[in-house]
Order: sequence, then C-alpha cells, then structure tokens
Amino acid sequence: MASHETAKVALLYLDLDRFKHVNDTLGHPAGDELVRQTAARLQQAIREVDTVARLGGDEFAMILIDVHDIRGAEDVSEGLLQKLQEPFKLADDQVFVSASIGIALSTGPDADADDLLRKADIALYEAKKNGRGRYQVFAGDMDDLLLRKRKVESELRHALNGGTGIKLAYQPIFAADGSTILGAEALIRWGHEVHGGLPPAQFIAIAEERGMIGQLGKWVLHEACCFAVGTELPWVAVNVSPLQLRDAGFAEQVAAILAETGLAPGRLQLEITESVLLDNNDTTRAALAALRQSGIAIVLDDFGTGYSSLNYLRRHAIDKLKIDRSFVNLLGRDESSVAIVRALVDLADALNVGVTAEGVETEEQKALLVAMGCRQFQGHLLSLPLEPAQLLRLAGLLPGRDSTQAAASA
Ligand code: C2E
Ligand code: MG
Ligand code: MG
Repeated sequence: MASHETAKVALLYLDLDRFKHVNDTLGHPAGDELVRQTAARLQQAIREVDTVARLGGDEFAMILIDVHDIRGAEDVSEGLLQKLQEPFKLADDQVFVSASIGIALSTGPDADADDLLRKADIALYEAKKNGRGRYQVFAGDMDDLLLRKRKVESELRHALNGGTGIKLAYQPIFAADGSTILGAEALIRWGHEVHGGLPPAQFIAIAEERGMIGQLGKWVLHEACCFAVGTELPWVAVNVSPLQLRDAGFAEQVAAILAETGLAPGRLQLEITESVLLDNNDTTRAALAALRQSGIAIVLDDFGTGYSSLNYLRRHAIDKLKIDRSFVNLLGRDESSVAIVRALVDLADALNVGVTAEGVETEEQKALLVAMGCRQFQGHLLSLPLEPAQLLRLAGLLPGRDSTQAAASA
C-alpha cells in the first residue's frame, strides 16, 4: 500500500454527520443524491494521485500519498470539511450537512494497511464524539480507551441478550420517621467478571452512545415492574434515559410492560433528568403527558444540576423533584448550602409537587432537611441499594415467599 519512496501515507475516514436525518426527513432518493454530490466534492478536493472510495452508506475513505507530515493531512481535511459545509441542493431543498474525519498517518513507507484502517476508524469515532464537523488525528492513547469501550459494548450486548450478569438493586426511599418505606428506586448493576463493578453511570453512557439504551431501558422497566407486582411495595421508581423518551413509541412501550406484568400505573414512577425538559420537542412532551395521564408519576431526578428554568418546570407536568445529592452533601459543611436546599424545597412546594432528598448520609443532613419540610429521604444513612430479597426483609413485606423469588432473580 505504501511503497512510495520515503514519504508517508495518510488514510482519512469521512462520515457525514446527519445523514440519517436527511434520509428520514427528505427520503432515500435525496439521501442517495447527497452521497453522490459528496463523492463529487471529495473527488474535486483531492489531488489526482490520491484516491477516494465509498465504503458504504455515508462513509468514505481517502488515501493521500506522498504526505510529508500530519500537517499535510490536516490541511486536506480542513479543505474537505469546508467543501462539505457549502449547502447541498437536494430535491428542492437547500441542505446543510457537516462531516467528521478520522486521520491516520503511516510511520513510514511500509504501512500496515489493517493498522491504518483501524486507527482511522478510531480517530473518526473520536471526532464524532467530540462534537462532529471536525477532524481528529489518531493518537496512541485512543487505542486503549476505544478497545475498552468496544469490549464493554459487546459484553453488555451479550448480557442483555442472554439476560445474565445484569440485575437491579433497589434503594428504599423513607418517610421522615426514618423507618417507613415509601417506595424504592431501581438501580442497575452489572456484575460482569471482567468489567465487574463498572459504575452504572459509565456503562449507561456507553449504552447511550452505542444505541443500546432502548433495549437496556426496556429490560430495566420490565424487571422492575415484575419485581414490584409480586410485592406490597407501594411504588418502584425507574430511571429513564433522555434517549428513551425521544423514541416515539416509548409511552406505548411502558403501557405494554405494565399490561404484561400487571403492575398498576400508580405504582410506577419514572425518573427523568432536566435535559429531557430542555429537549423541547413534541415527541418528548407528548410522551410525558401520556405517561402522566395514565397515572404514572414523573420525577425530576438530580434536580439543581441541570438548567431547567422555572418556566420549564411550570409548563411540564412533574410530580416530584429529587434534590441532587451534591447539594445534600454540602449541608452542614457549607453555610450557603442550607439556603440553597431550602430554596429548592420551597420551590417544590410552590409548584405543588413532592420532594425527595437523595444522598442523605448523616443525621445532621436529615434533621436539616426535615426542618425545611422535606418529606422523602434516600441515602446511605437510611439504606444502601439492596438485593430484592434484602429490601423485602427490611420492609417487612411478604416474608418468605419473595425471598426465594428474589434470590432466583438476583
Ligand atoms: P440516580 O438516579 O441519581 O441514582 C442515585 C445514585 O446515588 C445511585 O448511584 C445510588 O447508589 C447513589 N446513592 C444513593 N444514596 C447515596 C448516598 O447516600 N451517598 C452516595 N454517595 N451515593 C448515594 P448508582 O447506582 O451508581 O447510579 C448512578 C446513576 O446511574 C443514577 O443516578 C442514574 O442516573 C443512572 N442509572 C442507574 N440505574 C439506571 C437505569 O436502570 N437506567 C438509567 N437510564 N440510568 C440508571
Ligand atoms: Mg434516579
Ligand atoms: Mg439522582
């Protein structure tokens, strides 16, 4: 591949950023036309000695020979991105697209083609992740990170398909007396032998990035509803990713799971984050309204960490706010934190919605929160997330019968 004297070879991977969107909104003929016009622009932008090839879909590869250093490949990439920024004429529309490029440069004339391909692919993935519309040169440490991610992804896929290794823990939420259990939040756990102990926030992010969150979220909902319906637990709360809510069929999916498991809608709470409210789109709004209409409570999780304005809160029907544990954590350590948390509790009051404090770790924090009028408490002071059977024992619910059932599913 790289027999050309002493010069180096650069491999560029290029991928259009919103190709699917063009296909979805303007139709496949427009998508095909976009690919054709892109190919023509790329061809024009490179020298005759270089090569451009379509790899499939909206992906192209370019081989630049005789490149002296990385700067040369970067200049070409810069030019390509600019060329693609000019509007495309598709059907009767002017369409603006951008592209991402991954660059790999051979170390010398004897480049290993497979190695270059792999590096360009990794660099492209990084370019997309870092915000699209940009190029990214492969850097050595990308290897480990991406390989690890891909490994996690495939293991997670496997776990989801076979249903082993993933389970739910339940963290009870208490009344102010510290002993009455009001409900519990389902928290995913992945006990993988290799990635064991990988925190949920990390593998959830990978699932979101790699398009697996729908499947994972559905599994969690089903599992949590199945568990709750066999107990006297008043309600179970399930975390929902913003990406799940963007899926037009989400509300129906939830309804189907409730119907299938037999759990009453009033016993399910869905925890969403503030970004969902900012994501001001009709699909999300309609889904939230339909879910609430059916009797499911909508809870705003990690409240105070996002950007929701009072207007958003007023406009979107929410049943409960959960004060983020970063605020609760400061109680008793930092003067102003008391005033901030009090303001959040008062805000919930003014909006006429419930309020839960999460991450309560000390008696002092709890006492301050009780004094402010907070009524629901979750945190290590009261209980860690528990295995299903442990939760039922703690709550004194259905002793015996469910301990075997829970052990089987744990
Ligand atoms: P979250 O929904 O805000 O869940 C509360 C997190 O705080 C849990 O972390 C819980 O173990 C932790 N926690 C509870 N009490 C305390 C405390 O007193 N101190 C401290 N330091 N931490 C406490 P976890 O289980 O690691 O989950 C992290 C996040 O991952 C969750 O935050 C949620 O955003 C996400 N997550 C977990 N399970 C799921 C799921 O099934 N689906 C989705 N989409 N996200 C999930
Ligand atoms: Mg939550
Ligand atoms: Mg939270």
